[in-house]
Amino acid sequence: MPCEVWRTLLEECYEAETAYTLYLAKSCGLVGAGFDQAIQRAEEARRTSQVCEKALLRHEHMHDCISKSEWAKPS
Ligand SMILES: [Zn+2]
Repeated sequence: MPCEVWRTLLEECYEAETAYTLYLAKSCGLVGAGFDQAIQRAEEARRTSQVCEKALLRHEHMHDCISKSEWAKPS
């Protein structure tokens, strides 16, 4: 299995992506200032998810915990 740090980073990615989807969906039913705010929140969540993804990739590269893991091998 990948390490705890990797799992935490993945969770953060997932949360940010979920928030992005939610705010986008919310913006569809809004107009005016409410719409602007929802779009702004979606944009922030998208940026957060990008930062998390980069951190995740960097961790995989530095720590090499994915290739070392046994989870892909048949037991
Ligand atoms: Zn790791």
